[in-house]
Amino acid sequence: MTVLVVAQTENNKLKKVSLEAISAGRNIVEETKCRLIVLSFETISNAESLGALGAQKVVICETDNNSEQYANIISNFVSKEHITTVLFSSTSLGNDLAARVAGKVGAGVAFNCVSVDFIEGMIQAKKTVSNLLATIEFNSLISVATISPNTQKIKIFKRKTCPVEFSENLGSVLKTVVKERTSVTKKNLENAEIVVCGGYGVKEPGNFKMIDLLAEHIGGETGATKTAVEVGLADENKHIGASGKLINPLLYIGCGVNGSREHLDGIKTSRVIVAINKNPDAPLVQNADYVILDDMWRVIPSIISELEKEKFRKKSEN
Ligand SMILES: Cc1cc2nc3c(=O)[nH]c(=O)nc-3n(C[C@H](O)[C@H](O)[C@H](O)COP(=O)(O)OP(=O)(O)OC[C@H]3O[C@@H](n4cnc5c(N)ncnc54)[C@H](O)[C@@H]3O)c2cc1C
Repeated sequence: MTVLVVAQTENNKLKKVSLEAISAGRNIVEETKCRLIVLSFETISNAESLGALGAQKVVICETDNNSEQYANIISNFVSKEHITTVLFSSTSLGNDLAARVAGKVGAGVAFNCVSVDFIEGMIQAKKTVSNLLATIEFNSLISVATISPNTQKIKIFKRKTCPVEFSENLGSVLKTVVKERTSVTKKNLENAEIVVCGGYGVKEPGNFKMIDLLAEHIGGETGATKTAVEVGLADENKHIGASGKLINPLLYIGCGVNGSREHLDGIKTSRVIVAINKNPDAPLVQNADYVILDDMWRVIPSIISELEKEKFRKKSEN
């Protein structure tokens, strides 16, 4: 039995979601004493230090950025190394690869899980569906799952280092390329410290610019409710909630967001929740730490105007 965690990186550093996927895999290792291998398609600085998170080996295989190629390489690796469980992070890429790999190796697949364990001789995954916790039992020989962000405690073990292999030939269609690294400073929604979320109350796609502007002024990322995404107010990758991204910011500001149970599930670990809404009975208003009970088209422009005045004042002082 071997667990494979397919890691995702940014500027040669493992993303937090991948550290969480390794921690989820480590649970199975503790339960079965099996091996844990981490596979990455980009070099990881200090890859050997992943031993401290429970990895027994790290394999780095630099290749073209192409989902089908990644999926072929992972599938070949699964057969070659007799992998029994493959874990990805619940990102757009992770969910995409999980579906492709499961199809290629004939595995069962579960998306957006909060845990995976080896119980009574089989892998079991748990995921939240609305406010229910569903258990998924795999009866396939190979199980594939994606792990939702902000669901795992990252554990550190006594073992400090592990071997790192650089492989150029894991897949039949493999071509190694030298990639130019770009420095991306913008954080993604799951790792953002400040999130400004627009709901259906935004009404028109053009109005969403105001939400973006507020986020920009306070150094945050923009998110949206499922309904806002469905009616085309915002992109799918901004969808927050039980069926979208689970976020964990220091500050969440919901603008024209009603606060359905599914949406609250995705924001409940936020340190401070602010609601800007004109309806005192909206569930987000009831659940927020701070409420601005007013029309957001009056509130948001005046916050932005105050922030701009403050910026101008600071500039003229220097
Ligand atoms: C299986 C399933 C999964 C789901 N998963 C998710 C999920 O992951 N995430 C998610 O978000 N939803 C999810 N939903 C949908 C969810 O049930 C709600 O329908 C949705 O969250 C409502 O979105 P909303 O708050 O943007 O819109 P609405 O419910 O229409 O609320 C709009 C709010 O804007 C306020 N408003 C309007 N105009 C203004 C204004 N000018 N100023 C201030 N306030 C204003 C209103 O008072 C209201 O509170 C799911 C539903 C199902 C069935």
